[in-house]
Amino acid sequence: MEKPVFAANWKMHKTIGEAVSFARKLTESIGSLSDREVLLAPPYTALSAVSLACRDSAVSLAGQNMHWEEKGAFTGEISPNMLLDVGCTWVILGHSERRHLFGESDVMVNDKVKAALKHHLKPLVCIGETLEERERERTFAVVGKQLTGGLNNISPGDIKALTIAYEPVWAIGTGKTATPDEAQEVHRFIRKQLRELYGAEAARSVRILYGGSVKESNIKELMGMPDIQGVLVGGASLDVDSFLNIARCPLQ
Ligand code: PEP
Repeated sequence: MEKPVFAANWKMHKTIGEAVSFARKLTESIGSLSDREVLLAPPYTALSAVSLACRDSAVSLAGQNMHWEEKGAFTGEISPNMLLDVGCTWVILGHSERRHLFGESDVMVNDKVKAALKHHLKPLVCIGETLEERERERTFAVVGKQLTGGLNNISPGDIKALTIAYEPVWAIGTGKTATPDEAQEVHRFIRKQLRELYGAEAARSVRILYGGSVKESNIKELMGMPDIQGVLVGGASLDVDSFLNIARCPLQ
């Protein structure tokens, strides 16, 4: 099994100065980290400065989104080569805010996953149900559809480069966390789906992260679940001490 991942998604927060002072403190405090991966996903405006601040450290850089085309008339978008150029090795794709606020479909997520793989950027693909879907007992159907749609025509060899984040939409930024058992139940389902689609070996090598109001007080319990190999953190990643306490969680 690959190392667990602790990822910070800053969304539309932090000026360049704020981002750099966070990154400096994080890299100094976190040390060399041989047993886990730590990622920062700053807003685009801070990528270059954070990339410099994280150079020669154990912290990797992720884009929060990406267009699938290499270049062209796509105002406001960013290409795979631009993310690579600024020092990103990862990219978050299909975040629920992209899906629900900006109309991203499974087909678009799939195009982005293929483009990321082609450019050797590691895709962190987000999937998850809304509260209404959970209440209508549609969780597995929705998560299954987002998984098969987002990973359509990806080979078992390429699947190993992927990381999935299960992020129930009702738990994002709301303070409501899925209980460790609720999260584990969906993670187990995702792992089973991956096994059926790509075989046991590929399914084992894909890390499945949990996201949704992760904080210092619930990280240990979540990381104790057998199918949770890390976390994607929004709100609690904006404060460096809070994120450090999450990213330094003891591993069993
Ligand atoms: C997220 O945006 O991916 C997220 C999980 O946010 P929060 O931790 O604030 O719920």
